Amino acid sequence: MSKVLISDCKSYETTALKLAIQESINELGGWKHFIKPDQKVLLKINLIGPKKPEKAATTHPEFVRAVGQLVKEFGAEVYVGDSSGGAIAGMAPTKKSFNVSGIQDMANEEGFTVVNFDEMGPVKKEVEGNYTNDLYITKAFDEMDVVINLPKMKTHSMGIYTGAVKNLFGAIPGLRKAKYHKEGPNPLDFGEFLADIHMSIDNMPLHIMDGVVSMAGEGPTAGSIYPAGKILVSEDPLALDRVAIEMMGIDSNKVTILKASIKRKIGNWNMSDIEIIGTFEKLRNYKLPKRYYSRETMDYDRVKGVIDFFKAVPIVDQKKCIGCNSCVESCPVNAIDLESKLIDYGLCIDCLCCHELCMIEAIELKSTKKWVNVIRAISSVFYK
Ligand code: SF4
Ligand code: SF4
Repeated sequence: MSKVLISDCKSYETTALKLAIQESINELGGWKHFIKPDQKVLLKINLIGPKKPEKAATTHPEFVRAVGQLVKEFGAEVYVGDSSGGAIAGMAPTKKSFNVSGIQDMANEEGFTVVNFDEMGPVKKEVEGNYTNDLYITKAFDEMDVVINLPKMKTHSMGIYTGAVKNLFGAIPGLRKAKYHKEGPNPLDFGEFLADIHMSIDNMPLHIMDGVVSMAGEGPTAGSIYPAGKILVSEDPLALDRVAIEMMGIDSNKVTILKASIKRKIGNWNMSDIEIIGTFEKLRNYKLPKRYYSRETMDYDRVKGVIDFFKAVPIVDQKKCIGCNSCVESCPVNAIDLESKLIDYGLCIDCLCCHELCMIEAIELKSTKKWVNVIRAISSVFYK
């Protein structure tokens, strides 16, 4: 049986956050159950890219401040780290992301050490039942005594949902993430990478989800903000994700990226194996992505033609595009033309990295057929 603690918190005010988080930690036996004074504790945040905190794409700096202060007050040394997705001029934009997201300034104020996983480099890992023999994750996890996972509650245009399990993809430093997207282009295979990463880490006992202001719609970077007012805490990342999914109104069968983690038992998935403590409620009118993949849950071959006909594809809005080339350099199959930014859909593997990583939201998901977009716009008026 896994416990998932849910607390209400409507703002990023430090005192309110600390009270809510501490209450949940107390239910789990207090900080002493997870860390010791003088240990090095890494807060693994969601720093998907250079996005401002109010966009709800990254773990909010005030949320990180609150957890960091609690850990520091217990006597441990606080580190904050991640590796962003995408590429700018051939480099992952992690340093820029720390600045834009407000994490760097907050860390400076609090005396936390920022750890850029890209600068630290990777270490090769082998785990039982490996999906890949080529798993390289950040050295930071090995160099810290304890890792605390701080995911953001969000929708995801590929996997429908992203939370505690998916947050560990940032443990892959730099541009290697694009390689894994290429090797695991569908959510089922991609989920195997996520399970590999989780199974390779043995010092991450705690997961605290920032759902104070979450992301709905076209997540994980271009969605709308949704003030969920929730903080979820658990020792079990899969159980935490299951509860978040239920709250967001997502059909748990459709979260294909978590199938491998369920199969490889990185935690509990069935609601009957999860004890919920706190205020569980269905979040009303939580908008889900227009498209996402759940190939394992449908007879994909039979409906593929229909899906392809109606499917939305990434399209660069030339008026918005500033030519940063992040999409071009992030595309694992070189499907985006360097000059025109036109996408070769014959090469495109639908990983949606470009959509996810265009930080000015110049890549939309639309059908190439105008009237399909008209039908979609009309139906969205009725289907809210
Ligand atoms: S669409 Fe334009 S602005 Fe967006 S990532 Fe690509 S080049 Fe950069
Ligand atoms: S163009 Fe296609 S393959 Fe390339 S990053 Fe975008 S979605 Fe992925």
